[in-house]
Amino acid sequence: MASPIELVGEALQTYWLSPLSLSVLAVCGASFGTLLYVFLTNARNAKLRVSLLTGLYALSIFFWAFVAASFALCVSQARMVAYARNGVPLAVFGAVVGGLAASSVISLLVWRYGNDAVIRKFSPRNANLREAWLQQYVDLVGEFEGVPRVRVRVVESDDAIAMAVGGRRRTILVSRGLLELLEKDEIETVIAHELMHLKHHDAEFKVFSRVLSRILFFDPFSKFFDPAVHREREYLADEMGGRSTGKPAALASALVKIANRGTPAKATWGLSILGGAGRGIFSRYPPLKERVHRLLLLSDLLSASLPDSAKD
Ligand SMILES: [Zn+2]
Repeated sequence: MASPIELVGEALQTYWLSPLSLSVLAVCGASFGTLLYVFLTNARNAKLRVSLLTGLYALSIFFWAFVAASFALCVSQARMVAYARNGVPLAVFGAVVGGLAASSVISLLVWRYGNDAVIRKFSPRNANLREAWLQQYVDLVGEFEGVPRVRVRVVESDDAIAMAVGGRRRTILVSRGLLELLEKDEIETVIAHELMHLKHHDAEFKVFSRVLSRILFFDPFSKFFDPAVHREREYLADEMGGRSTGKPAALASALVKIANRGTPAKATWGLSILGGAGRGIFSRYPPLKERVHRLLLLSDLLSASLPDSAKD
C-alpha cells in the first residue's frame, strides 16, 4: 500500500509525463513565442504592440493558473490521477477549465475594484470655480473622441500629477501642483493625453497590469510585460493626444516641465503622465527624450500639412 506522499509523487509524475498535459504547455509556449516574435519585430507600431502585450499577459496568467490547478488536482486526486484509466485526461481537462476560471475571476476582481482603490488613495476634491474650465474641456474633447462621462477631480498635492482612472466612474485626476506649473494649452494637451488612455481602456489595463504583476510576483515574464505595456500605451496616448489637440509641441513642453520639477513620489504608482521608476526594459515610462522627439516630429508633420495661409 503506497503512502500518501508516494501516491502524490506518482500522480505528479504520471500527470507531467502525459502527452496531454505536455501539449497544453507546448501550445502555451508556441503561442508565447509567436506573440513575442511579432512584438519584437514591430518596434514602431504602438497599437499592435499594445494588443500583443495584452495577449502575452493573458497567456501568462493562464499558464500559471493551469500549473497551479494541475498541482492542486494531483495532490487532492492523487489516486485518480495515478491509477484511474481516465485519471490524467480528466485532471488535465479540470486544470484547463480551472485555470481559465481562475484567471477570469482574478481579472474580473482586479478590473472591478483596482480602480476605486487608486482614487481612494489620492482622496481628490471637486474642481473649484477657477478650475471649472477643465471639466468643460474634458466634456468637449470627450464628446469629439466618443469618450462619455469623464469626471475631472483635483488632488491637493505639490507634485505634478496627471492620471486617468478607469472602471465604473472614469476620472481624470490632476494635482494642484500640475495646474500651477503649466500654461493653459499645456494643461489641455496633458488632459487630452489622459483622455486617450481612457479611450483605449489603458487606464483600466494599467491598474490591472500593476496589480497582477504583484500577484504574479514570481512570474519572470510579468516583470517584463508590466513595464512594457506602460511604455507602449504612453507612446500611443502621446500621439493620439497630440493629434486630437493639434498641439503636440505643447505636450512635449509640458513633459519637459514636469520632468524638471522632479519625479513625483512613488505614490503615483506608475500611473501618472511621467515617472521615473526603473530603467530600460524595466522602466514603466518611455525615455523622455524619445517621447519629446516623437511629439516634435508629429508637430512638424502637422504644420507641414497645413496650407501656408493657416500657419502663423
Ligand atoms: Zn500617460
